Amino acid sequence: MTQSHDISCDCRAVSIRLSGAPRVRGHCHCQDCRTLLDVPYHSVTAWNPDQLEVTQGGDRLIEFQHPALQMKRVFCAECGETVYNTNAMDWRVVSLHLIAKNNDGEIPDDLAPLSHFHYAARIVSIDDDLPKKD
Ligand SMILES: [Zn+2]
Ligand SMILES: [Zn+2]
Repeated sequence: MTQSHDISCDCRAVSIRLSGAPRVRGHCHCQDCRTLLDVPYHSVTAWNPDQLEVTQGGDRLIEFQHPALQMKRVFCAECGETVYNTNAMDWRVVSLHLIAKNNDGEIPDDLAPLSHFHYAARIVSIDDDLPKKD
């Protein structure tokens, strides 16, 4: 059976199901993530479009198309939480923070970060044992 994870926003109006293994899991230090989300780096899982199914509240999701980037931020109209964002490859990018909030504060083993990437573009340095890729 395919592994899946059910994720809801803070107010539970919107739920999504992530199926299979993510394309990428780790910490992204690129400028685009910073610009879209106003975070110093983005701790993510990234999925193909067909691996993310909106199982509840699809009509409560609002897409913000960034004016300068090929990225969208998709958030709940009720609580404002970003449920996922898209990138230039149209992957579905789901925050590890949101995933942890839905799993008693823990990141499930099969979604745990494996590396840092775009590390040369970082604005903060991380002292951990994960590989750092540029
Ligand atoms: Zn919500
Ligand atoms: Zn990034």
